[in-house]
Amino acid sequence: MTRSAELFERAQKTIPGGVNSPVRAFKSVGGTPLFIKKAEGAYMVDEDDRRYLDYVGSWGPMITGHADPDILNAVRSRLDLGLSYGAPTGLETEMAELLCELVPSMDRVRMVNSGTEATMSAIRLARGFTGRDKIVKFEGCYHGHSDSLLVKAGSGALTFGVPTSPGVPEDFAKHTLTLTFNDSQEVRDCFKEIGDQIACIIVEPVAGNMNCIPPEPGFLETLREVCDQSGALLIFDEVMSGFRVALGGAQEAYAVTPDLTTLGKIVGGGLPVGAFGGKEEVMNQLSPLGPVYQAGTLSGNPLAMAAGITLLNKLRQPNFHQQLSDYAQKLCEGLEARAQAAKIPLTTQQAGGMFGIFFTDAPKVTTFAEATQCNLEQFKQFFHAMLDQGVYLAPSAYEASFVSAAHGEKELAFTLAAAEQAFAQLKAG
Ligand code: PMP
Repeated sequence: MTRSAELFERAQKTIPGGVNSPVRAFKSVGGTPLFIKKAEGAYMVDEDDRRYLDYVGSWGPMITGHADPDILNAVRSRLDLGLSYGAPTGLETEMAELLCELVPSMDRVRMVNSGTEATMSAIRLARGFTGRDKIVKFEGCYHGHSDSLLVKAGSGALTFGVPTSPGVPEDFAKHTLTLTFNDSQEVRDCFKEIGDQIACIIVEPVAGNMNCIPPEPGFLETLREVCDQSGALLIFDEVMSGFRVALGGAQEAYAVTPDLTTLGKIVGGGLPVGAFGGKEEVMNQLSPLGPVYQAGTLSGNPLAMAAGITLLNKLRQPNFHQQLSDYAQKLCEGLEARAQAAKIPLTTQQAGGMFGIFFTDAPKVTTFAEATQCNLEQFKQFFHAMLDQGVYLAPSAYEASFVSAAHGEKELAFTLAAAEQAFAQLKAG
């Protein structure tokens, strides 16, 4: 029995499913999750001392690689000053100034402790600001696990949402409408009918929770337009895409300006941080200035701010994002070429430093429904064949994978050689 298997067995006795976040359990790919001992650069080492080239990067934050010495030093330099004060610090303003500078649409920002908290708070603020209850989201987009957002479509686009999880009251879910990602016409039809009741649209501008699905030309622009016409707010959930697809996030890459933006992952440099921000007139509705309540005991934690500020500043080096994007592009092209040589139908999609692989003969995947039609069995086999060779991909066919600045030519060659083997195994059946 491996040490990971032993630890997993033990964990299941006290932690539901043995994990503190479900996708870590390898449920959708099968097998035993790796328990990690340490990580550095592009690599993680598990409790059995096996080394893996990592394409998860803690689900996004490790964009400069694991155990980045600059971030570790920034945290170390704060340690002896105390861990938390429950009173303001200059670091929080430094972080806020940085975010307002980097994220094109942000005039004001508030720090929270996770992406879930950021989206939940942004939705409340949008409802408070507009005085409306209904919200629009898109099928396959994930915005954390708060009640209003764990909702799937009813039987037709304009029917009330239904909870995706027991514990979410139908009375909450009915205020959430779930439309089809990349379907501009459906959005227009919805707004024509009930636009004046809608508080906000929340969208992952590059979807990363149904594999990797970039917006089709015109989709984000349509969202902006219907929001402008109806008085609804446009929220870009950039928890994943923020600082990753471009320094200023998807809003910079696609030149569409949201009213509010939610951030997470990279913003904390690997410590638990989220943020939401946007237009001054909207953000000023928050307590203590305005009536919309939102708070957090550990929000703006000094260690987390030090880590986040250090990481964000590192991303400003020229060409940082171009290099990530080049790597991801070469990787995707290399994977497609090797799959084709092995006669395995495969499509890849990429936005900056995030990418996804789809086992399908469709040339592109633009919606959740299309993503679910891909060959999940082949994905599972591919995932395990790669893992056996020391390449750790996102353990689900519905998650994007990530590259970091620590991924270089050596890592690219290693991954493509492993993929060639993996495709050969798939072909042999
Ligand atoms: N929004 C998006 C787009 C995400 O990808 C995630 C997490 N993967 C969240 C929100 C929730 O963030 P957290 O897990 O930090 O609560």
